[in-house]
Amino acid sequence: MFSHTTRTNLIKRLQTEPFDLLVIGGGITGAGIALDAASRGLKTALVEKHDFAFGTSSRSTKLIHGGLRYLKQLEFGLVREVGSERAVVHQLAPHLVLPEKMLLPLYEKRGFGSILTSFGLKLYDWLAGVKPEDQRKMLTRKQTLKAEPLLQSSDIKGGAIYAEYRTDDARLTIEIVKTAFRNSAVPVNYCVVTNFNYEDQKITGATIRDDYNNTVFNIKAKTIVNAAGPWVDELRELDNSKKGKRLHLTKGVHIVVPKEKLPVRQAIYFDVGDGRMIFAIPRDRITYIGTTDTNYSDSKEEVRASKDDATYLVNAVNQTFSSKLTVSDIESSWAGLRPLIHEEGKSASELSRKDEIFESDSNLISIAGGKLTGYRKMAERVVDLVIEKYFEDRELKRCYTASIPLTNPGFSSYGEVEVFKRRFPARLVHTYGRATEQIVANASSMDLLLAELEHCMEHEMVVSASDFFIRRTGSLFFNIDRMENGIEPVLQAMKDRLGWSEDKVKTERQRLKDSIKLSGQFL
Ligand code: FAD
Repeated sequence: MFSHTTRTNLIKRLQTEPFDLLVIGGGITGAGIALDAASRGLKTALVEKHDFAFGTSSRSTKLIHGGLRYLKQLEFGLVREVGSERAVVHQLAPHLVLPEKMLLPLYEKRGFGSILTSFGLKLYDWLAGVKPEDQRKMLTRKQTLKAEPLLQSSDIKGGAIYAEYRTDDARLTIEIVKTAFRNSAVPVNYCVVTNFNYEDQKITGATIRDDYNNTVFNIKAKTIVNAAGPWVDELRELDNSKKGKRLHLTKGVHIVVPKEKLPVRQAIYFDVGDGRMIFAIPRDRITYIGTTDTNYSDSKEEVRASKDDATYLVNAVNQTFSSKLTVSDIESSWAGLRPLIHEEGKSASELSRKDEIFESDSNLISIAGGKLTGYRKMAERVVDLVIEKYFEDRELKRCYTASIPLTNPGFSSYGEVEVFKRRFPARLVHTYGRATEQIVANASSMDLLLAELEHCMEHEMVVSASDFFIRRTGSLFFNIDRMENGIEPVLQAMKDRLGWSEDKVKTERQRLKDSIKLSGQFL
């Protein structure tokens, strides 16, 4: 069980046992590294200063994709790696990483020509080894408008359909964290690294502040990997080792509208005419649209969509579809930071999405850049380096995360997921996988929302109502009404279960209300 009670035991272990590896950051990068390291036999701890996936890993476009636009930047190696990883990640969690056909409309006056697109998509499929039945199909103008009648027709000259995958980034991250835990890692949320400890100028551990229990303790670790995403440079500064390359943060915003305001039939990737491409992705009762790409230097703890961001996306939609979207139609939004590596003279959109590893003289290993999709290969590279440098004398396994399913018990194929969905609601199956069966059984004696909460508290280390509504269920983004109606019963259940005081309930309620307000307010 990966529960609130387990958390207390895990904290005790962090305080008393020496670790081979401490991973800082519970986003997808840190989670992937913890799973890779633990499964190879390294005694591994992971600390996350907020909740798992609090950072960029809950604020992406939520696609497991090869990055079609990186072909334009001639990043063939990156496209090959992340493109090939799509099928692997789908196989590891078929209920959560779902095949999604993407429509790419082609225009007379903007974007690429048909021949270049046809060749580019062929190359994309070839680099990623896409199965023949899933390879790109070019469409005529008539076929494109039939596939998406909402497209404004005047400028369309044709289109293409190609294969990608859709996921829920925060759920993918928590599944990797849980899998790391099943493989003996010790992952804990709400634990901040506030300092490093040294012997002979080499890192030997870190000071941790446990914000859930208001305590401070030290952890001993032979090696430390800094996978803190947008905060990577802060930790390098703490280690006095921020030299040479540095991070360049860019903000990406998504807006959410009710499906009836933009009833697209399928996911679309369209050219805005200013050199940028935007996704419109239907999901259950909403459509979400994104993203932007602008330089960012404000607070990393509270990243928000501005009025300009929202207006830009609304205008992009209205010039592409027969829609009359306004900023007031937006019911929710999210904004995330890309932790990219700075390259002199390059604009936000031109910066490479490749990951890079930095090593300090004190032995701090930092990793930044990369994509959600490529988390497994990034983790393999980092753990290979850790083993080569510090554990050469140990008999450790080679990376085998491509064959460690991300749920237990899981599904062996997407076909099995489809069969399972005949018995249970699709939303639950895509969120909880086979655990849906137990949740639905429990819902016979309580409200379904509370049965979901019970599961998340017992098996997904939910210790705050925001963990549940934002990162375990995505309600803030995809079903804001359910969140608004569920606040009081969820707070009551958590109060009863975790022994919260009235003050604590008040703070949690305010936090939830602020999240709802801020996700729909643009300044
Ligand atoms: P994060 O998820 O930010 O994790 C770092 C964690 O470290 C945070 O949770 C933070 O709280 C924690 N931390 C920081 N400091 C400390 C400390 N002192 N102690 C303890 N913990 C600490 N990729 C794709 O493959 N597909 C997409 O569709 C896609 N879309 C994107 C859209 C946008 C708008 C953006 C911004 C990115 C997108 N990406 C996408 C890229 C992808 O989301 C990121 O590469 C990835 O999520 C980065 O994960 P991370 O773990 O490195 O960082």
